[in-house]
Amino acid sequence: MKFPYLKEAVKSAFKKPSTEIYPIVNKVAPVGYRGKIVYHADKCINCGMCIRVCAPGCITRTIEKVEDGDKITFNFYQGQCTFCSMCADFCPKDAIELTQDYHLAVTDRDDLIVSGTFIKKAPPKPPVPPQAPAAPAADKKTE
Ligand code: SF4
Ligand code: SF4
Repeated sequence: MKFPYLKEAVKSAFKKPSTEIYPIVNKVAPVGYRGKIVYHADKCINCGMCIRVCAPGCITRTIEKVEDGDKITFNFYQGQCTFCSMCADFCPKDAIELTQDYHLAVTDRDDLIVSGTFIKKAPPKPPVPPQAPAAPAADKKTE
């Protein structure tokens, strides 16, 4: 009986592993890698460009009226994201970043949602123009 792979198996048992054990060895992704999304709500101007260019439609926006303006929330659903970077490339304010972080394994899809909120202040109300003085009432003619 021949065991053609036995010699190879014994040799391999004493060799260094050809792969690295993740997450014990945590590799840094190369520059330009498009990973986890970071949304900088403080830079966003609510232009909506990112929503328009996102082909899978994974960016949503909700607007809620609050006392001093609008409360705007953006959600990025990374579970359906293709990491194409179109949203970041078209954002005029660099409010979206695709980082080198590739740790995206989760057990709950909701953990992949990236959210950010900011208040867009309402413009100041224009001053009320001064009221013109009321015209004096016309004298009634007595007969
Ligand atoms: S990277 Fe692409 S798919 Fe993902 S949110 Fe941005 S535009 Fe949409
Ligand atoms: S493109 Fe940029 S500035 Fe415009 S809504 Fe999206 S995140 Fe905000």
